[in-house]
Amino acid sequence: MLMKDSAVNEQIKYDVAIIGGGILGCFAARNLMRWNVSAVLIEAEDDVCKGITRANSAIVYTGYDNKPGSLKAALTVQSNRDFAKLCEELDVPFSRCGSLLVAFDSEAETVLQKKYHNGIRNGVNGLKLLSGAEVLELEPMLSANVRVGLYAPDTGTVNPWQLGIAACENAMANGCDVWCNETVSNIVRSENGYWITTSNKKVHAKAIINCAGLSADQVQNLLYPAEVSLDFDGADYLVMDKAIAKPKHVIFHETAEGKGITAVPCTEGNLLLESTARALTVPFASTLEGIRSVKDTVKAVLPQVDTTKVIRSFGAVRPNLRGRNGENISDFYIGNPAPDFYSLIGVKTPGLTCADALGRSVAEKVAVYLHAEENTAFSPVRKGIAKTDGQIICQCEQITKGEIIEAIKRGATTVDSIKRRVGTGMGRCQGSRCTYAIERLLEEEIHGENVRRAKETI
Ligand SMILES: Cc1cc2nc3c(=O)[nH]c(=O)nc-3n(C[C@H](O)[C@H](O)[C@H](O)COP(=O)(O)OP(=O)(O)OC[C@H]3O[C@@H](n4cnc5c(N)ncnc54)[C@H](O)[C@@H]3O)c2cc1C
Repeated sequence: MLMKDSAVNEQIKYDVAIIGGGILGCFAARNLMRWNVSAVLIEAEDDVCKGITRANSAIVYTGYDNKPGSLKAALTVQSNRDFAKLCEELDVPFSRCGSLLVAFDSEAETVLQKKYHNGIRNGVNGLKLLSGAEVLELEPMLSANVRVGLYAPDTGTVNPWQLGIAACENAMANGCDVWCNETVSNIVRSENGYWITTSNKKVHAKAIINCAGLSADQVQNLLYPAEVSLDFDGADYLVMDKAIAKPKHVIFHETAEGKGITAVPCTEGNLLLESTARALTVPFASTLEGIRSVKDTVKAVLPQVDTTKVIRSFGAVRPNLRGRNGENISDFYIGNPAPDFYSLIGVKTPGLTCADALGRSVAEKVAVYLHAEENTAFSPVRKGIAKTDGQIICQCEQITKGEIIEAIKRGATTVDSIKRRVGTGMGRCQGSRCTYAIERLLEEEIHGENVRRAKETI
């Protein structure tokens, strides 16, 4: 992504630096712009939303899973209610498809009952415990052996990176600077904040919001010893061809051993299948064993799903948050080692659902610390890239040259960043037919723009 950068090589000063441009950093940035502060979002990769935010289950949760009284429960229930409005503001597709948590044995049935009562205590709307026959009426693709189901009509799905990129674009439109390809490697205290060293720059900020995802504990440790630490495990995902028959609802599968597979009918029309947690091997790479195990379990749970029609697989990395003595911390954690330093560490499910709420919470705390006034000019509205007529470049997804050029104008600098803005390469051929043409367009647009700018400055 291109940065809005007016001050390279000068002393760069901001009120707030947000470290990490995953979905949490993007929403922290967007919400900071509700206040009169100057801010920069610093991201190590060449684009935002390439970490955990690009490899997750895309589900907007309702909150029946979370412990009553926890921050997670409160934020999830509220965020689910607010989600349609958020996606409308940011022009991102959202499908409130509902979910069924299904059980095939008596032990798992007990878990469903517990989750139902949890959900009621948390204030989740519309929850229903259903008999096997009622479940099959709602979702005939499930195995006839299903014993009981927990129906949650408010569960939804959203494309996680589209939402994060939309929040980032909205933050930029409201004045936030974004730097990509800049890894924060050092932070030192100054009289009035911090000096932050990145790959190519040194920047001063009065306050820091640390949203560095899988490295968030290490980023805090650059200056303040974090009271928590992260370890990791993985999961495998299969993306299925759009043409196959798929369930209408998100299907969660509870087993006597715990969580089984998850099947998600995505907003793009693909079915996403997720395995149970496994040991982490290569970050973000899938494993053969994991793929086999997902396929075998899907055959038992959703026997009509054609598991041969896989168009892509990927692996996920799950951060597990540990306390000082290695104990598991299940709630959201907001580290605050100094009044001007906030850290979102180890935010896993349902961090996508709660990204706006978490981002708003840290942004407000920092704004209050800085005595910032409200930004009355803030606009929460962002427009997505509209479908246009014209020359088709991606045949599978019917994406035109005009849409690709618009993605480049908005800051995409690689084939991958175009894919994540307009959906090129997301179809059956996975980019084998359009990648070359997109590379040429990138070359023409970016090189052409550089030549034009150079001529203007002569
Ligand atoms: C397997 C899995 C499935 C999930 N499914 C769901 C779901 O269905 N629904 C839901 O609500 N939630 C889900 N979640 C949770 C959700 O995906 C995460 O909470 C969310 O994506 C975390 O975003 P993040 O911004 O913290 O992390 P990231 O997206 O990883 O972003 C952190 C960013 O910081 C950058 N960075 C790191 N170090 C530095 C540095 N030193 N300098 C500059 N930049 C740096 C990284 O490059 C990265 O881009 C899931 C999580 C996992 C792991």
